[in-house]
Amino acid sequence: MTVMMRSKPTPSADPQPLLLDTLFRPMGADGVYARTQLYEDVVERLTLMITRERDARAEVFRFPPVMSRRDLEKGGYLKSFPNLLACACALHGSEADIRAAANRATTGGDWTSALEATDLVLSPAACYPVYPIAAARGIVPRDGYLFDVACDCFRREPSRDLDRLQSFRMREYVRIGTPAQITEFREAWLTRAQDLAAQLALPCRVEQASDPFFGRTGQMMAIAQLQQSLKFELLVPLHSESRPTACMSFNYHRDHFGETWELADAEGAVSHTGCVAFGMDRLAIALFWTHGLDPKSWPASARQALGF
Ligand code: AMP
Ligand code: ZN
Repeated sequence: MTVMMRSKPTPSADPQPLLLDTLFRPMGADGVYARTQLYEDVVERLTLMITRERDARAEVFRFPPVMSRRDLEKGGYLKSFPNLLACACALHGSEADIRAAANRATTGGDWTSALEATDLVLSPAACYPVYPIAAARGIVPRDGYLFDVACDCFRREPSRDLDRLQSFRMREYVRIGTPAQITEFREAWLTRAQDLAAQLALPCRVEQASDPFFGRTGQMMAIAQLQQSLKFELLVPLHSESRPTACMSFNYHRDHFGETWELADAEGAVSHTGCVAFGMDRLAIALFWTHGLDPKSWPASARQALGF
């Protein structure tokens, strides 16, 4: 379902190679880049812009780029996206074991075969660690919870496309409460997000979406997600109109995290949850892609919104 279209012609020549050279420096892997000052300045300004939208009631958490493996397993991530997950591994054992494995690296051998999983995974999204934090408080209050969270995320999807990184920044507003509270939160953000995109002079449309669930059972999960209208995305046509890029997502998890973490109100009703996710790197890349490399020449409304 297309909710809205704000159009502006997409530049015909592919600016990606120039963006890559100007905004980033290679770090030896596709989708993992050093970020230049020009680029980071825009990410910081976008961050401030999103903070200005923060509800006064929101509690702020900034998470490290790793999280508890057990917590992510408990949330069912391995059922949905096992192909995207990266686990932190380390050398274990005695000094001799570790030395022997490390020495293999210096002689051209394979030291990685000695690695063992740790209790940490690289966080694939910013909101996962917040549910156990909320659950540890006990009964969910009548007004529910509202969180502002962020972290560096990792998804194992190497690509040369600048808008598909392996390591990227995600900011989220997360709501925990009754179904009505989640619906109201998400509806409000669907509108506000389009206003933000309009201020940034980014052509966009909002569409219903599904997550890239893994494998054949994943296709069934995607269909169910679409049938229940659980996910919407704000799409910016970078490569083409037919293959636009999701720069924000608006997710309703129903009672999934409530059941997982035993989040419930005083009457025992299981809490519902939802989140709005801002892909900080995708938004910044979309700005440079759409408006060019010199922020001083960007449309006036975008410069004003970003405080240039
Ligand atoms: P999702 O949880 O898949 O809805 O992701 C939330 C947001 O993170 C998306 O709307 C994107 O803006 C951003 N995102 C997801 N995957 C990537 C990626 N591989 N590279 C850059 N940004 C991403
Ligand atoms: Zn989320």
